[in-house]
Amino acid sequence: MDNFTKQFTSNHQITENILIDAKGKAVNGIKEFMKNNDIYFAYNTTLCKNGHNIRSRSGHCVVCDVARIAFVKRSFKNGCLYLFGSKSKQFLKLGMTTEIIENRLQKLKSRQIGGVQDWKFY
Ligand SMILES: [Zn+2]
Repeated sequence: MDNFTKQFTSNHQITENILIDAKGKAVNGIKEFMKNNDIYFAYNTTLCKNGHNIRSRSGHCVVCDVARIAFVKRSFKNGCLYLFGSKSKQFLKLGMTTEIIENRLQKLKSRQIGGVQDWKFY
């Protein structure tokens, strides 16, 4: 791994367990391998138009688009759909969270999201 890759992956908390060296590997084979092993990023890939070689599993250059790193991590993390409601305001809130559902509910209540204090599970 070159210094740029080392520095970049370290700065963006791309840890070894979600990163693979793609050197000499066929694109299709490596994508399948990454999918089966929960690996989200590869380095030593073919170069992007700006000359980088670190890509997400879907093939996007994460050096050109660093926001994609958080997006990718979030989208592969296990999450939970929830439906909260408020009787006083007659609101329903459908959401998705990667945190423990009780913590999410507590956050909504403490921040009084939507001006509501009585959020409950539905
Ligand atoms: Zn790039």
